[in-house]
Amino acid sequence: MKLDNTQWKITFCTGATTVTGADFLLEGPFDANGRPLLRILVDCGLVQGEKLADETNWAPFSYDPKTIDYLFITHSHIDHIGRIPKLVQDGFTGKIIATPPTCALTRPMLEDTAGILSHDVENGLDKIYTTDIVERSLSGWTGVPYEEAYELIPGVVARFHNSGHILGSAYVSFTIGKEKVVFSGDLGNTPSPILPDTTPLSDATYLLVESVYGDRLHESRDERRDLLKEVILDNYKKEGTLIIPSFSLERTQELIFEMNELVENKLVPRVPVFLDSPLAIEITKIYRSFNDYFNTDISNHIKRGDDPFDFPGLVETPDSQDSKAILKKPSPKIIIAGSGMSSGGRVIHHERNYLGDPANTLLLIGYQAVGTLGRQLDEGVKSVVVDHTTVAVKASVKKISGYSGHKDTDALVEFVAGSQKTLKKVFCVLGESKSTTFLAQRIRNELGVTAEAPEAGSSFIFTV
Ligand SMILES: [Zn+2]
Repeated sequence: MKLDNTQWKITFCTGATTVTGADFLLEGPFDANGRPLLRILVDCGLVQGEKLADETNWAPFSYDPKTIDYLFITHSHIDHIGRIPKLVQDGFTGKIIATPPTCALTRPMLEDTAGILSHDVENGLDKIYTTDIVERSLSGWTGVPYEEAYELIPGVVARFHNSGHILGSAYVSFTIGKEKVVFSGDLGNTPSPILPDTTPLSDATYLLVESVYGDRLHESRDERRDLLKEVILDNYKKEGTLIIPSFSLERTQELIFEMNELVENKLVPRVPVFLDSPLAIEITKIYRSFNDYFNTDISNHIKRGDDPFDFPGLVETPDSQDSKAILKKPSPKIIIAGSGMSSGGRVIHHERNYLGDPANTLLLIGYQAVGTLGRQLDEGVKSVVVDHTTVAVKASVKKISGYSGHKDTDALVEFVAGSQKTLKKVFCVLGESKSTTFLAQRIRNELGVTAEAPEAGSSFIFTV
């Protein structure tokens, strides 16, 4: 079917019925030959399952990267940026647009991923994640702050709005004549301890909404800090070592801020807290340089001259010698290290050293995927193989589940409801099938708005 100059098309390339691999194409208006004047990509992320990157990531894109004019990035999580090097390798030369914090955070995130993937010779990733291609992927980005209009062609304007998910995260809207097409990216579990609340959306006509927790509710977040306090106090009494595997981006900074509050309000005794992750240390540095992007809690800290991401007892150990030296430091002590699912990183060494002693505690604060060491520990196995060594799990394993970075089903419906009067259609994406279909049904039933869970590769055409 040949499209005309009143029509636009949205294609759900990947990230439709999967949580990861965000990649959506918006194109239009079409000329007399049926060619689009603008081809806009929103996100270009890795499809992740048990592994950092599934094999499906290396198949050719469903569009020609050479023909893409713009790539808009909603935030710097790897399932939204991880395939940019492949896009560049396959000929993309368009502009990349993101908020200033996203521009800054993308380098350490992409370099960290490249550090792992570039060793994969079997899948040819050593040819994609070369220093040269990664560097080209990081150049030529344009930073556009929240709410600032960015005109693509006359009558087509893009804007980022705060999504409250991680520092600099955004949902992006494209105003095309009377229509407003919105790509949600990931929507934060507002209220966040450090970020402002998600900016409400009230006038979308077409909306792609994430659905990670489309069919689930979160536990209350009020108890979260109390639980953290209890675990820290318990570890203090046992004179043990508390290990917290943590995701480097956002989760670690939230955790440090909450520990800061506990220590400075003297709710827990001062013990050494080692931040043992070069990536998390680098990202925390970037967080400190974007004071305008925090909520009033954090702003008040900064106004008082207090660094919200530092407190008495916090020790950063970027060098591996300092990391190794943690073992000799007396307990009680706390170690925060990546990776969040114990699938690599320095936390592995600490788990090998400390899991065998009942005085110690392992605290899980995030989702643990099937197949990871973190999942085994979460399920309570009695012994694990860490770094080729069998370790009896005698340390106590605890979990706090209030640290999710995504809205739950009620909060997602509330976000969509803001545009109830204007919405023509909602597409539930970025979730497992049961989540996307459940959320679509709720939107239809409770808001009376047309909603569906599109399949990957399908398209939708609208007229402006
Ligand atoms: Zn995300």
